[in-house]
Amino acid sequence: MNIPERKFQVFTRQNLDKLPQMQRLSEEQRLAMKTVAHVLPFRVNNYVVDELIDWDNVPDDPMFQLTFPQAGMLKSEDFETIRGMLLRNATQAELAPEIKRIQYSLNPHPAGQKSLNVPHENGEPVPGMQHKYRETVLFFPMAGQTCHAYCTYCFRWPQFVGLDDMKFASKEASHLVEYLRAHKEVTSVLITGGDPMIMRTALLRQYIEPLLKEPGLEHVTSIRFGTKAPAYWPYRFTQGEDADDLMRLIGEIRAAGKEAAIMAHFSVLRELQTDVAQLAIKRLISAGATVRTQAPLIRHVNDNADNWAQMWRQQVSLGAIPYYMFIERDTGARGYFEVPLWRAYMIFTEAYRQVTGLARTVRGPSMSCTPGKVLIDGIAEVNGEKAFVLKMLQGRDPAWVNQVFFARYDQRATWMDQLKPAFGEKEFFFAEGMRDIRAAGEGRVWLPTEVDALEETWRMDPVEPDHEHERKKPE
Ligand SMILES: *Cc1c(COP(=O)(O)O)cnc(C)c1O
Repeated sequence: MNIPERKFQVFTRQNLDKLPQMQRLSEEQRLAMKTVAHVLPFRVNNYVVDELIDWDNVPDDPMFQLTFPQAGMLKSEDFETIRGMLLRNATQAELAPEIKRIQYSLNPHPAGQKSLNVPHENGEPVPGMQHKYRETVLFFPMAGQTCHAYCTYCFRWPQFVGLDDMKFASKEASHLVEYLRAHKEVTSVLITGGDPMIMRTALLRQYIEPLLKEPGLEHVTSIRFGTKAPAYWPYRFTQGEDADDLMRLIGEIRAAGKEAAIMAHFSVLRELQTDVAQLAIKRLISAGATVRTQAPLIRHVNDNADNWAQMWRQQVSLGAIPYYMFIERDTGARGYFEVPLWRAYMIFTEAYRQVTGLARTVRGPSMSCTPGKVLIDGIAEVNGEKAFVLKMLQGRDPAWVNQVFFARYDQRATWMDQLKPAFGEKEFFFAEGMRDIRAAGEGRVWLPTEVDALEETWRMDPVEPDHEHERKKPE
């Protein structure tokens, strides 16, 4: 395969007009984009613009919706405020407080990201880490806190608009190594961001090598990389010495006896169809990595079953493993992107029915919410009461995992906090445990219950063995 070299070029609000494709849009449309881009992050690159967006289909094109700001992403009064200020050339000093106000109205920190997920050691937060589920630690290297392009729906948007300082990111691998040594329950490290693949391999290596070489880390059996680079800049894996060096680094992880997993974010079939994206996946797998795929379900972008079924089939044929379908989180421009839970379940089911078991490794649709990852596993009617059948795929308390529970069916619900327990229950089964975790205060991340009270609900009482069949044995 002969893939021409491409030089990375980035476009933001400041140089948006330099994009030749902008001339296809009206003055009004460009102003609308700039208005929204004052509040929400915006960054694309030449590959996304030239290869992934179908400019004949703008503004409906899903890749355009995925990467370019749209008027509907802000409440109309907020949109008009900023637009009006731009039209009368308001100064930065005038704009800044309005922008901040709107940003803070968009629930910038959902699901206890800051207060509940950051572990503490000796009373101090551990920089650059989250530890929500017992087995897995998330690590945020300082230099990996941007991306090759931004998704308009990104739940980490506050850090890209300067709302979050970068204090939570870590400059050093030593904190990670120290923490892991003290936490033998952790078997998996997930390097995330932003996008860790924005880092040059030499820098990435500084974080990875200690995990392979330092003593006392034998319990860490997998290293994962959360990344959108295979979709937004696959040249990261195919072009130049740096890409080759990344393949060697993956080989070193494998040689150390650990799994190297690329958790690749693919939203739209188009992202998987270019030669360079396919080559990127092939190279990663040849180097010894597994590629697992995940994405949220987003209105205007990928809210149709065929796109998902086609993506999963394409992924399987390339050797990648479909992993998660997420529900859009309750932050940012959620009003523009959200899909009701019943519809998410319907889209997932219609897609799931179209593929073989090889692609049914995917789980979803699931919500990453404060107590854990909640799967919408069904819609059922029991004794005339319609309910969502939910299941905890991941839990802040390991005893919650694989528990089924029920919420009253609600056609408008788009997120967990809008759901009420079904069948006359006063609260969901994890409510008391969550109160304990909150009461334990900062730094108490995952928390195992002393006695698994829930097990009582399904543990079998001992029964006398049934000797009936023995008596009936023919003589
Ligand atoms: C999803 C997630 C993980 C990993 O969960 P897996 O089911 O093992 O992929 C870890 N930490 C957080 C905070 C997550 O949201």
